[in-house]
Amino acid sequence: MAEQAEKKPDAAAARKPVSDKLVSTDPSTGKQIWSGKIGDAAAEVAAARAAWPEWAAHSNAYRIEALRRFANVVRKEEQGFAELIARETGKPLWESKTEVISVINKVEISIEAYGERTPQRRMEAALGNKIAVRHKPHGVLAVLGPYNFPAHLPNGHIVPALIAGNAVVFKPSEKTPAVGELLVHCLHEAGIPEGVVRLLIGGPDEGRSLGSQPGIDGLLFTGSARAGMALHKQFAETPHKILALELGGNNPLVVWHAKDVDSAAAMVVQSAYLSAGQRCTAARRLIVDDEDHEVLIAAIVKLIDRIIVGEPFADPQPFMGPLIDLAAADHVQEQWLNLMMKGGKPIRRLDRPDAETPFLAPALIDVTDIRDRPDEEIFGPVLQLVRVKDFDAAIAEANNTRFGLAASLIGGSPEMYDKFWANVRAGVINWNKPTNGAPSNAPFGGVGLSGNHRPSAAYAADYCAYPVTSSEADRARAAIADGLRDPNMQED
Ligand code: NAD
Repeated sequence: MAEQAEKKPDAAAARKPVSDKLVSTDPSTGKQIWSGKIGDAAAEVAAARAAWPEWAAHSNAYRIEALRRFANVVRKEEQGFAELIARETGKPLWESKTEVISVINKVEISIEAYGERTPQRRMEAALGNKIAVRHKPHGVLAVLGPYNFPAHLPNGHIVPALIAGNAVVFKPSEKTPAVGELLVHCLHEAGIPEGVVRLLIGGPDEGRSLGSQPGIDGLLFTGSARAGMALHKQFAETPHKILALELGGNNPLVVWHAKDVDSAAAMVVQSAYLSAGQRCTAARRLIVDDEDHEVLIAAIVKLIDRIIVGEPFADPQPFMGPLIDLAAADHVQEQWLNLMMKGGKPIRRLDRPDAETPFLAPALIDVTDIRDRPDEEIFGPVLQLVRVKDFDAAIAEANNTRFGLAASLIGGSPEMYDKFWANVRAGVINWNKPTNGAPSNAPFGGVGLSGNHRPSAAYAADYCAYPVTSSEADRARAAIADGLRDPNMQED
């Protein structure tokens, strides 16, 4: 494990590699909590390639046992793991604990999903011939992780990749290397060979370098649409390599004449502000009936005013912590100012009590009158209110985005939900539920700019192995019936 030290307060720039080191800081305090050496993608890929054949040759049962041991190792480290996530991301401890539970649960979910999505099949063909469908691993897969769920999301690629028989080179976010390192440490502790899971420390440069290695057979990515597009370009000349992109969203939440206004308000707040809005599935746009929304907005504002924003270990626990770093908070503030300049009307402002820390207050802004609303992901605690004249306009507004990750309807009738479900373009569509908190045992992914049709979670098995169809017989027996000359006929 790399050195754990306490040093001087941070600036986001501290994460930029100075010489060959990467440092990680606690967003709440700005103190350095970790530092480690920037890795070499080529060396890590070479190590993984060397280790891969033996791992792939083991039985599936062998690999599953190894992953079950990994779940037990994480269970033993549960408290320390959660504390490290809280310290490195700023997420409240209660929320960090739920992330560790997700890491543990991912193992059984992936084992079941592997069985369901990539089962061996045998079929009978004509003349007693036998057909078999089996799956093979790709080889060495690169995994690039984001910072917002620094353990759970990369783990959601790594576990299914390992079960399928791949070796993995994992590059955690440059903002959360310590959690990435701990995740890999737990895998090794469980007896998964060091060559089979490699840790690559670094930032976008190392991500690009990893993506360009001839020795990888694919790349599994969770992160921003910007980086996803760059990787897509980078992979343009290697269409034979698997590329799974899980990207961001500009997610709509329609509340339509909800009877239980307090519950609706609670779901809006959960959707928009959990994890300080740093969730890919967070609601970014709240769409309501222009004629009927005042009571709802009043209930939401009442809740917003009660939200505790604080450091992750505070007692009582906060609802949300800081953003990941100063640069992220600056960026969200710029996006907010842009909305204000375009004519947005703040209902609750995006306050930043201390410019030297990345804590932001939850904000709500009415953007109905902005003509050219930017269709971008605001990865922070900002919810944009859009008032529309009828339900058709609500659906049109929900689809008024290039993204397509999550969408929810709260209220409405069963018929309205049917219409919403049929017409809204998204990979997660909920009714009377928040936009976030998708079940891990179902597929998870989006359309549009939110991904490239390689959904993760329960369908991750699909991109971790490829199907092989075989026609098989005990012995070779064949005769050619047509198109041959009669051997008894003389040629003149
Ligand atoms: P990011 O795209 O900045 O970084 C993600 C990873 O990619 C990091 O490891 C980073 O070092 C690397 N990277 C960045 N640019 C790269 C490039 N050009 N080439 C190769 N690698 C590169 O994302 P982030 O800020 O860490 O995470 C937040 C984003 O992730 C948000 O957009 C969020 O919506 C998205 N996200 C999506 C999902 C999902 O499942 N769809 C889940 C969580 C987060």
